Amino acid sequence: MSVLNSGHYILGEQGQKLEKAIAEVCHCHFGVGVANGTDALELAVWALDIGPGDEVITPSFTFAATAEAIVLRGAKPVFVDIDPSTFNINPDLIEKVITENTKAIMPVHLYGLPADMDPIVALAKKYYLKIIEDNAQAIGAVYKGRPTGSFGDLACISFYPTKNLAACGDAGMIVTNNADVSERLTRLRAHGMKKRYYHDELGVNSRLDELQAAILLTKLPYLAGWSERRRSLAKAYNRALGSIPWLKLPRNFDNVEHVWHQYTVVVEFDEKGPQSLLPASVLRDNIIQKLAQNGIGAMCYYPVPIHLQKAFAQFGYKKGDLPVTEFLADRVISLPMYPELEEKSIEKIAAVLNKIGQELTAVPSPSVSPVGVQF
Ligand SMILES: *Cc1c(COP(=O)(O)O)cnc(C)c1O
Repeated sequence: MSVLNSGHYILGEQGQKLEKAIAEVCHCHFGVGVANGTDALELAVWALDIGPGDEVITPSFTFAATAEAIVLRGAKPVFVDIDPSTFNINPDLIEKVITENTKAIMPVHLYGLPADMDPIVALAKKYYLKIIEDNAQAIGAVYKGRPTGSFGDLACISFYPTKNLAACGDAGMIVTNNADVSERLTRLRAHGMKKRYYHDELGVNSRLDELQAAILLTKLPYLAGWSERRRSLAKAYNRALGSIPWLKLPRNFDNVEHVWHQYTVVVEFDEKGPQSLLPASVLRDNIIQKLAQNGIGAMCYYPVPIHLQKAFAQFGYKKGDLPVTEFLADRVISLPMYPELEEKSIEKIAAVLNKIGQELTAVPSPSVSPVGVQF
């Protein structure tokens, strides 16, 4: 109400307060509010002067915006496979794709689990590369005592309504410890202006408005408690699903605080069962559909890896280039995860999954083709 009464809707006090508060969460000196997480990524690439002829190393197992930001600035995304136990970029595979054109590494803290930052930071130091963290899914997560967002030259956050800290609309932010980069970003988000109507360079219109900032400031004090709740729900899931042999459960790691943006399981049936006649992605989609019929909103993040998307065909990747990414894209299911979820719902989800599994592994009668089995 105070924002509405003030009549001041763009670039005001609420936005500045939020920039300071989010920077603090990420142990950074500066925050620059922007219109959404995608703009945050593109402006981050822009602010580091990465463009045509440059390469940026990033995972393909992510939301398209990560690589899109690189391509929209004219640079080339170089995709690296992931570690199956973390779903995040595999640091062991980064060094061999570094070329003289490599300018940056863009790790994603997918599903709320920090990427393995120590080796990434070491490689960036060794080869004079920048790091842009895609922290859209992991605000508040901690890796070896330090929050995500504090490792890169820049880190990008999304406040999209499904994210852990969610606006009532679109909003995003870039955090950094570099004063020059922060200053440049405040110009780029506002048509390249520092002084009004004096355009030192081109920019865009990408601002976090005052209403969204006020909403986010109101919610921010709850974030740590919500993350704690998500951790306890993830434990409840691990207990409830632990006895289902065809589900691989997400791992937790001692030296991180996961914020469980998603609780993601991998469907891995015995290769010799009747269900093995179905392609893995069809089987996965069937399970999601069956869950939906039972009132359970499960999702697949994301069914097609970025390197195999039509929009990225120009970079010449083909099936088989990133085997772990491709294997998991066919098999992941993210189960309901939000702080208000109740333990008894998790019990129900486990029971439904058990039932689905029994139906799928039952030997079909000879008159029914296994492909046509309805479950
Ligand atoms: C949500 C998300 C984005 C984009 O954020 P928007 O605010 O939706 O533009 C980028 N990267 C990842 C990994 C995301 O999950």
